[in-house]
Amino acid sequence: MTKAPSDLENLLVSFDLTDPLRDRLYLVLAALPSEVQRDFIEDDRFCIRPLSREKSCETLLALPAPDGSGSRCVVLKKRLASCSQAFGLYVIAHELAHAYLRNGSWEQFTDPEEAADALAASWGFDKPASWF
Ligand SMILES: [Zn+2]
Repeated sequence: MTKAPSDLENLLVSFDLTDPLRDRLYLVLAALPSEVQRDFIEDDRFCIRPLSREKSCETLLALPAPDGSGSRCVVLKKRLASCSQAFGLYVIAHELAHAYLRNGSWEQFTDPEEAADALAASWGFDKPASWF
């Protein structure tokens, strides 16, 4: 299985080519370990979508269950394109970490939020000291 750029770009189909959030998302996806990229690319239930303001009531998603059932859809707010680059990339990586972990634990981190932060940091996306 190759990780050709087109495979990653297939994960971006919900975003306009002109959407700055698409660029940030691609930066994060391209930095992920190949086994994580493969996990996303090969799972038909995995998707990443921009949060649509008009349809904000649709953003309540089933959290993925540890057994792999349920949704693996990541929804990103538009604000992630306009906040600082470090914070935007961190949040995107954090949400992708939840999806990769099926909202579960990672290594010694049993709390899903701590696990997502730790995994995102291992990918190079530390929680910024400043959120702006
Ligand atoms: Zn989280």
